[in-house]
Amino acid sequence: MSLIQQTEEEGTFRDNLSTIHKDGSRNWIYVQKPSGRYYNRRTVVSVVLLTFLFLAPFVRVGGHPLMLLNIIERKFVLFGIPFWPQDFYLVVLLVLTVLVSFVLFTAVFGRIWCGWLCPQTIFLEMLFRKIEYAIEGSATKQKLLDSAPLSGNKLFKKGLKHTIFFALSFIIANTFLAYIIGSDQLLTIITDPIGKHIVGLSTITIFSFVFYAVFARFREQACVVVCPYGRYMSSLVDEDTVAVTYDFTRGEPRKKFSKEDKLQQQGIAVQSATPRGDCIDCHQCVNVCPTGIDIRNGIQLECVNCTACIDACDTIMTKISKPKGLIRYTSFNAVKDGIRHKVKPRIYAYSVVLILLLTTVSYLFATRPDLDILILRQPGTMFQKTGNGDYVNFYVFQGINKTYYDLPVDIQLIVPEHGKITPLGTLSPISHQSAKEMRFILTLPKDQLSASQTKVRFVISSNGKVIKEVESSFVSPEKP
Ligand code: SF4
Ligand code: SF4
Repeated sequence: MSLIQQTEEEGTFRDNLSTIHKDGSRNWIYVQKPSGRYYNRRTVVSVVLLTFLFLAPFVRVGGHPLMLLNIIERKFVLFGIPFWPQDFYLVVLLVLTVLVSFVLFTAVFGRIWCGWLCPQTIFLEMLFRKIEYAIEGSATKQKLLDSAPLSGNKLFKKGLKHTIFFALSFIIANTFLAYIIGSDQLLTIITDPIGKHIVGLSTITIFSFVFYAVFARFREQACVVVCPYGRYMSSLVDEDTVAVTYDFTRGEPRKKFSKEDKLQQQGIAVQSATPRGDCIDCHQCVNVCPTGIDIRNGIQLECVNCTACIDACDTIMTKISKPKGLIRYTSFNAVKDGIRHKVKPRIYAYSVVLILLLTTVSYLFATRPDLDILILRQPGTMFQKTGNGDYVNFYVFQGINKTYYDLPVDIQLIVPEHGKITPLGTLSPISHQSAKEMRFILTLPKDQLSASQTKVRFVISSNGKVIKEVESSFVSPEKP
């Protein structure tokens, strides 16, 4: 019987949350500061992501933000590429592609998103927790400070920590708001008199308090209790998924480090009375776990794959002269059977879907026109007859310039062969990042009309390049 089966039958760790007492009260986790190669790599990744996150809405590309997710006005700029409401299908396809790539990566590599990329983990572990260590010291010192009676020192440390936490939450709230309303609008809200932007300022304040509450108090509960994404991710993980895994075949039976082990470590052969695995039951992997679980119980819903336990165990293994990797990135089946990771058919299926989506999105991006054009007959109008027997229809031209520069446009009639376009206003140019509406008259000689509805076709070009051909209809009496 494997360790996992044993522990499950004993019915302990899966029956309750390590962060909540039996009476429902919070079991506050004092997390030991991790250190090691994975923590260093995560720090580098976090610095890159945090730099991007804090700068992206403020960096300008051709006068426009690098990132804008204005859901209210349906304006999106992704990596400097503007998207209009007309491009919404592209945004939906992009989101779908990202989702499928998450599905694929989670099925293969477990909850890599949670441990390495999720803003909640990055803010908590790489900003707030580091500030806490700097002010209150190690996990043991934090615990002592919390249980100590109120004193000047305690008041100072707690006051300083929570002031910085709130200031940071305020910056995060402003940054997120800049993603939604744009940095210019945010600056206006901040610099204008308070009375002019009560709603905006209230939103910033509410969000600041929400972020502060999450990072100062709620913490890992967001991942363990609230986040639906964690559950969705976990449902994709199976026994062949590569995740942070304890090698129970090597670690068990676990036993405290003894005198015998010390002698063996010094190269002195000692006959051991009982067999033992490499785990010395030091609990370091549990002490560094931000969700308070014991990875030796197997893969659990609470595990965010942060790799802190890998670093902690590697340090212990080095100290007792054992090979690193007792806890490592591997799959349950690879540990159990000692085989290489298997690739299941569903992984191939996800890959095919992802390749299809990537191809489609790339094609649609590459062929996305700079100008979106629509030509319609003016609603509510019929035809008019001129003095020389020609017929006239009114049209509305709508153009959206998605680029960062002004574009000249030109309309020409290609079907039928003879006819005349008379603009009612200025058509060209269409300013960058804006929409323009204009009316024009189309005059067709009688001999060009086929029935009460004649098919007409316009060609729209810009700078000599054909942008689009648009079809419409021309109305006239049944027998002109
Ligand atoms: S078990 Fe390990 S990888 Fe999972 S959350 Fe805890 S420390 Fe991170
Ligand atoms: S850190 Fe390693 S040796 Fe220590 S309890 Fe965890 S698995 Fe065992």
